Amino acid sequence: MQKYKFNWELLGDVEGGRPNLGPMVRTEVYRLMQFCFRDVIEQAYGSENTDTLFYKAGLLAGQQYYRNVFAPYGDFADFSDFIKALQASLAEKHIGILRVEEADHVQGKYVLSIAEDLDCSGLPELDYEICVYDEGFIAGLFEGFTGKAFTVKEVDCWCTGDRTCRFVAEIANDQ
Ligand SMILES: [Zn+2]
Repeated sequence: MQKYKFNWELLGDVEGGRPNLGPMVRTEVYRLMQFCFRDVIEQAYGSENTDTLFYKAGLLAGQQYYRNVFAPYGDFADFSDFIKALQASLAEKHIGILRVEEADHVQGKYVLSIAEDLDCSGLPELDYEICVYDEGFIAGLFEGFTGKAFTVKEVDCWCTGDRTCRFVAEIANDQ
């Protein structure tokens, strides 16, 4: 029996529950939670497993986000409609500023950038990309739209000296 199986209802009635403070929370509070999770999970399970778990959590979040935020409004007419809705939603929720840099519908390969990314924009420079949760999140969103599994890899990150995060999303080979 799973104690914490995710469902959207767990997010609760934010409007009713926070009538004075409202729905927004400061970025450092979100990052505090994410980096503390990362620390304790890494100590218990190692770096590689931590990245795998964050990717999986992001994937679940992307799938659920698509299902609960977009799907209730019906199908998108095409890819550009999907991207427009996604750009608006990510900006409205202050997650980041999305741009599509390349879209190859034949190969099923896309290059996206997210500026002012919630997870990493402004972080100290590290020698690795850190937005593993975002990789999974984007994979879940693309899966929602296409009905196909995607693999997403961050290729540039604030943490590696770029001033934006850049992701390559590709249809997963094993299908
Ligand atoms: Zn990044």
